[in-house]
Amino acid sequence: MTGIKVVKFGGSSLADANQFKKVAAIIKSDEQRKFVVASAPGKRFDSDIKITDMLYACYDKAAKGENFSENFAAIEERYNSIINELVINISLEEDYKTIKDAFAHRAGRDYAASRGEYLNSKVLAAYLGYNFVDPAGYIYFGEDGTFDLEHTLSVLSPKLAGLENAVIPGFYGSMPNDTIKTFSRGGSDVTGSIVARTVNADIYENWTDVSGFLICDPRIVENPKPITTITYKELRELAYMGAGVLHEDAIFPVRAAGIPINIRNTNHPEDKGTMIVSDSADVSKYVITGIAGKKGFSVINIEKDMMNSELGFGRNVLRALEKNGISFEHMPSGIDTMSVLVSTDSLIGKEKAVLDEINYRVHPDHMEIENNISLIAVVGRGMRKARGTAGRIFSALAHAKINVRMIDQGSSELNIIIGVNDEDFKAAVQAIYDIFVLTQE
Ligand code: ASP
Repeated sequence: MTGIKVVKFGGSSLADANQFKKVAAIIKSDEQRKFVVASAPGKRFDSDIKITDMLYACYDKAAKGENFSENFAAIEERYNSIINELVINISLEEDYKTIKDAFAHRAGRDYAASRGEYLNSKVLAAYLGYNFVDPAGYIYFGEDGTFDLEHTLSVLSPKLAGLENAVIPGFYGSMPNDTIKTFSRGGSDVTGSIVARTVNADIYENWTDVSGFLICDPRIVENPKPITTITYKELRELAYMGAGVLHEDAIFPVRAAGIPINIRNTNHPEDKGTMIVSDSADVSKYVITGIAGKKGFSVINIEKDMMNSELGFGRNVLRALEKNGISFEHMPSGIDTMSVLVSTDSLIGKEKAVLDEINYRVHPDHMEIENNISLIAVVGRGMRKARGTAGRIFSALAHAKINVRMIDQGSSELNIIIGVNDEDFKAAVQAIYDIFVLTQE
């Protein structure tokens, strides 16, 4: 199939009848938008509750044998008000009965949560006049609970090839024994990616409530510039540091097929949003693409004379961490020193065990743990070509009187990771943003 766009709409894009109207207008304005993946209704206002959360709460009551009819009535009310306001000729009464019955028979939390997208997609399909395709029996997980692409392609591909259009609920699929399983929260993004891969779409449009990614967190820097194009690799570097708009797993199915993702805003369809692509010849206006960071790291500093000539030293240190179930983030080293960065959460309560184990394995001269370290990733495909990027970062930080605790440049030259004290975190991000973006305007 060619000339197809797969469009996914998130919860806030389908939270009420008014949002449904915007979604329908977007879909109808481009006849290539044939396959639609829908989330459950999200929040209509800040203090509102997402249908998915209402379903979890309702099911938890049912599972304890408590009366859940009031909770369920509130869920029915959300859908009924959408149906009534849009004046669609559809009734969900039979579905409500089936679901309540399944709740009473403890059909499982995943089944319960999945009903949010199931019902919403039925409503959207009726409103658009599109086919409805239930992913149960078409999107498959393996025995180990991980998504099974091959099995999915073998059944979903012929199904969709026979259809002119379809609305497909996001967030869930089937286990090999045909029980329902969901992806992790926000997983409709993954379904959208799977559908785009299955129909070999030209593009996967992911419609949400922001106009794409920003260069850095707007809670740190006021009004940061948007990112127009980002590569999958850059996004991985930034997502890993906690810059989430898109579910992390959503890039894998489309990435392998070279299908770009376009993040778009349902409330501002005129904005072009962010394009996520395999490779980009398009040089961005700035050397860097994005800055992301996270607090809450600890560094284990290890010193030993002649460390660098001791065979297996690094391996033994890492074995000590592995034995305690801790994975490491970075490992800068000197001739007689080595530092291992780990997340503080993973180290809490295990400090003594880890130090004892390292001691036992490598007998260092000195060891210490320091907490309250932040890591900042400065990411950009443009860094490979631009000279002096690291220099500019460090002089900006020096001007801002920030002490750099650690530096790590990936061999891909796609990112530079900087460690600073937690109290310098915000000022450091601001300083890096200013030197690369603000002063370039
Ligand atoms: N409705 C699900 C959630 O709230 C999945 C999604 O919206 O992507 O996590």
